[in-house]
Amino acid sequence: MTESKTHLPLADRIKELLATGGPLPIVAAGDPVLRGVAEPYDGQLDDALLHRFTDALRVTMHAAPGVGLAAPQVGIPLRIAVLEDQAVGAQDVLEARGRTPLPFRVLVNPRYEPEGGARAAFFEGCLSVPGWQAVVARHARVRLRGQDGTGRTIDEVVTGWPARIVQHETDHLDGTLYLDMAVSRSLSTNEAVAERWSGPTPEEAARQLGFELP
Ligand code: ZN
Repeated sequence: MTESKTHLPLADRIKELLATGGPLPIVAAGDPVLRGVAEPYDGQLDDALLHRFTDALRVTMHAAPGVGLAAPQVGIPLRIAVLEDQAVGAQDVLEARGRTPLPFRVLVNPRYEPEGGARAAFFEGCLSVPGWQAVVARHARVRLRGQDGTGRTIDEVVTGWPARIVQHETDHLDGTLYLDMAVSRSLSTNEAVAERWSGPTPEEAARQLGFELP
């Protein structure tokens, strides 16, 4: 296929999605778009459409609510994601998780690599796997590179909960869901997490559900 043929439909599909005006429908696990490798963004959308699209991702993430959303989660296989975490909750939990406020940002063509060998294991969930959470061990510190929504270069070290969000959303662009790396015995409904496992760390869940913390 020529470039114009591969690019035109994506822009058109996005315009169609945006025509509804509200939060976009979120694609759930089982849809192949969540298992494909998304295309690098290289100008397939003009600046105005890119801005409208990332704005719709933000509205959708807020409405869900969630702290990150990748383009494949609304059915668009482009390497674009949005993040924002107001870090609201019990202070001891926020501190244990390194959950600091993460202002809204757009990631275009993000990639990350670990900085050091430290890992952190906590429950996390995904808007595309509604109702469930599981413990995932992730790099505690990553170097994030890519661009923002205006094409400016991003190259920074991210730690704590923001590092977890960056890894989770970037993994979506390679067709990876958090479940692929989760400790399967930790799988818990949102209700179970709220009732039993909402403490600062998953140590009690590990003891009672019978899994090793990575
Ligand atoms: Zn997700």
